[in-house]
Order: sequence, then structure tokens, then C-alpha cells
Amino acid sequence: MRVRPDVIVVGAGFGGLLVACEVARRGGRPLVLEAGPAVGGVAATVHDEGYLLEPAAGSFLLPHPHLTPILESARTRVVPAEATAHRRYVYDRGGLFEIAGPAAVATRLVSGRGKLRLLREPWVRTRPTSADESLRGFLERRLGPEVGRMGATLMAHGVFAGDPDKLSARAAFPAMVALDDDAGSLIRGGLARRRARPKDAPRAGLHIAPNGMAELAAELAASLGDDLRLEWPVDSVRRDGDEWVVGGRGEERSPAVVVALAPAEAARVVPGPLAPLLNEARTAPVAVVGLGGHAADLPVPSGFGALTGPDGGLHILGLLFESSYAAGRAPARHRLVKGIYGGDADPSVLALADEDLVALAIEEAGRILDVPLQPSWTRVVRHAPGIPQYHVGHSAWLDRLDAVAADLPGLHLAGWGYRGIGVASLAQHAATLADKVLTTP
Ligand SMILES: Cc1cc2nc3c(=O)[nH]c(=O)nc-3n(C[C@H](O)[C@H](O)[C@H](O)COP(=O)(O)OP(=O)(O)OC[C@H]3O[C@@H](n4cnc5c(N)ncnc54)[C@H](O)[C@@H]3O)c2cc1C
Repeated sequence: MRVRPDVIVVGAGFGGLLVACEVARRGGRPLVLEAGPAVGGVAATVHDEGYLLEPAAGSFLLPHPHLTPILESARTRVVPAEATAHRRYVYDRGGLFEIAGPAAVATRLVSGRGKLRLLREPWVRTRPTSADESLRGFLERRLGPEVGRMGATLMAHGVFAGDPDKLSARAAFPAMVALDDDAGSLIRGGLARRRARPKDAPRAGLHIAPNGMAELAAELAASLGDDLRLEWPVDSVRRDGDEWVVGGRGEERSPAVVVALAPAEAARVVPGPLAPLLNEARTAPVAVVGLGGHAADLPVPSGFGALTGPDGGLHILGLLFESSYAAGRAPARHRLVKGIYGGDADPSVLALADEDLVALAIEEAGRILDVPLQPSWTRVVRHAPGIPQYHVGHSAWLDRLDAVAADLPGLHLAGWGYRGIGVASLAQHAATLADKVLTTP
């Protein structure tokens, strides 16, 4: 007879898998129930004609205090990105500007006056306009209007495909706001954090899954053995005495359950009082457009990619130089780039049909790279409901969720809808949840 699991995890995207693997790593027994025929959720790698297109997560920083132990214990294969990944660009006002490394100091992306204001940041005393400032409000207050507007746009586009006036600085970029909380300045806070880092601590570097994120998810799932069921859509989660009963293709029972679904999907299965709150969550659809071709027809520079600045005048939010920073994403002598469209930043562009979106991407990527492109391979992947948007008010929403969940002991929510949208944040939250689950009496 099967031993009762310590926790049932609903959903086998990276949110659910990382919780289950962390529980297993600590000696607990998870049971994962996934509706689909495969694990990995939105990170469903496309393999076609020798191209490898990541439609969602495609890279992450390692080592990471929470992600590294999980990946190592599940014996997954991850490799460093190419060294050129540190080269980053911004397209704005018709030009491409390199912004990382020494080039950043001399960049003409911002004016001399903007740079001087940036350098004064450690001495600038300003008060937050509210406890939950917008990303743009926060960065303009700290860095000045020019650099603040630029930085807020790039961060919003690059991470959330979001609107810098709507995103909450504190909810969307908590580590950045913590620097200011701790030191009264982003620059002083950053320097203090660097000084506090042990001298021999390895610097985090960009990593990729060499055969794609879907395979990385499959490796995590394999480490769970029989403790994962596919094609097991959950339709209810209810309390029965001191147990949670998860219903779908039968019934499973456990003292704890982690619902690792997008909030709107979680709302369909969780008990009554949580559902209306979960339905308040905001997401924004996005489209990922892959363009592949022979190197001569698609000359991609070395580097990670380019983000579009506030005066870029393009629909594309960012263009990633996939085959430059990640080996194996295009066949030999071929190249792959990936453009991101839509989000809260530019929702109306998603009304375009796929072929028009591809035509737009070819034209706009060509403008960014300053060369006409002739891809021979294209692919559009649309995400709806899309990327969670941590707007001003998101932290208060989480507090309200916690207050309701306090009356539902043993029930937890996980995934990118809540406390960080990247895989590393999911791993960090997985550690917190494993603590809670394994101490549930
Ligand atoms: C364009 C884009 C680029 C990104 N780039 C990066 C990046 O470079 N680095 C990074 O770290 N992150 C990145 N991300 C974010 C990353 O992809 C997400 O954080 C992560 O994939 C979300 O995982 P999840 O498990 O929370 O959600 P999902 O992937 O949505 O997983 C939910 C799972 O639950 C299942 N499910 C749904 N309903 C039920 C049900 N009733 N019963 C059982 N199962 C159910 C679904 O089938 C799915 O498998 C990117 C995202 C996008 C869209």
C-alpha cells in the first residue's frame, strides 16, 4: 500500500516541481498531480529543424542558494551560458547602445546630465510617495528622471513585459528596494552588499539547460520517481477533518497541499473564500517570436540581447540573441533570435495574426541589428493568460490571501503568480513552503 504523502502538489510547472523536489530533498514524500501529458508548464521547449526555442524561461543565474541544491540533488544537467552573455544592449532613439561592462560608463544612451544625477544618488534624500510606489516612481525618485525612466522601462519590459507606471517596485523587484531600505541608497546598498559577500564566494553566472527547459523539468520529475502522475487534472481541493482531499481522477489525501497553478486556475479548485481573491490577480498575454536562419541571412551579434528603451519607437520589447549566448539553439552555421511582444507594455500588438507578427519581428529585429534579415525558420508561441503582473497593490493582495489562508492550515499557493516570476524565485519560495509542509503536524 502506498504511504500517505506529506504533501500533494497540484501542477508540475517549475513552481510545483521545485516544491516537490525540495520536499523530497529534505526526506519528505511529495505527490505531484499534473493535468497535462508532460511536465514543465509554460516552459515547453520547441524543438524543430535543429532549432531549440525556449518560449518561457530560458536562462537563470547560478549558483543560487535555493535553486542550486535542488538542481544538484535531482542530478539535472545545466551548463554555463557562453561568456559573451554579459554583453547587453538597449535600442533607443534609433540606435543600439551597449550598456554592460566598461561600455556602460561611456554610453550615450543617457545624457551627461543624467549620469551626473545618477552619481549623486547616494546623497539624495527623498521620501517615498507611498508605501507601495510604482517602479517608475521609485527609480525616478532615486536615480533622477532620465535614468529612472530608462531603467524602469528596461526592467519592466525585460522581466514582466510590463508597464513601469503600473508595476510595484517593491513587489516586482524586492531585492532592489531592499538595498534602498537598508542603506538609504541603491548605490550605497549595492556596494555594502558587495563588501559583505565572502571573498571566495563564486559570482553567479548565467546558465541554461542544454537540451531545453522541458528536459530540465523532465529530469526534475524523473527524480521524483512514482511520486508524480500525469494526465491527472485536479478539480477540487477540500478539507476533511485534519486532511486535505484532492479530487480529480480519484481522490488523494494528505495533511498539506500546495496548489502550484496560475491564480485564476487555482481559483477553480481551492475552497470558497480564496477563489474570489485569486480572481483579482492580473496577467498580461505575450507572444514569443523565434526567427532562425543561415548566419549570412541572420547576422546576430555576440551578447545576450537588446531591450527596447522608452523612446525606441518599436513594438518589440526585447530581442534575445539566442544562438549567441546559448550553444545548441540553432543548427551549425545557423542563428536564432527571439523577440517578445505584447504584455501590459503593448497589449494591442497581439491582435496581429501570426504571419503579421512574424513580419513585424523581421522588420523590427532588422532595425535593431541595423541589417535586413531573411530568416528561413519562424515560430510564434502565444502565452495567455500570460505573464503575472505585480502591480501596485500586489503586496497588499498577498497579505489578504495570507489572511484568508490562515484559516485553511496546510493549504499553500505556489507558482509565478505570487512571490517572484523567475525560476530562482520559485526555488526560494519552494524552500519556504518545504519548511511549512514538513512541520505540519
Ligand atoms: C516569455 C517568457 C520568458 C521567461 N523567461 C524567463 C527566464 O529567462 N528565466 C526565468 O527564470 N524565468 C523566465 N520566465 C518565467 C518562467 O517561465 C516561469 O516562472 C515558470 O515557468 C512558471 O512556472 P509555474 O509552475 O508557476 O506555472 P506553469 O508553468 O503555468 O505551470 C502550471 C502547471 O499546472 C498544470 N495545471 C493547470 N491546471 C491544473 C489542474 N487543474 N490540475 C493539475 N495540473 C494543472 C499546468 O498544466 C502546468 O503544467 C519567462 C516566462 C515567459 C512567459
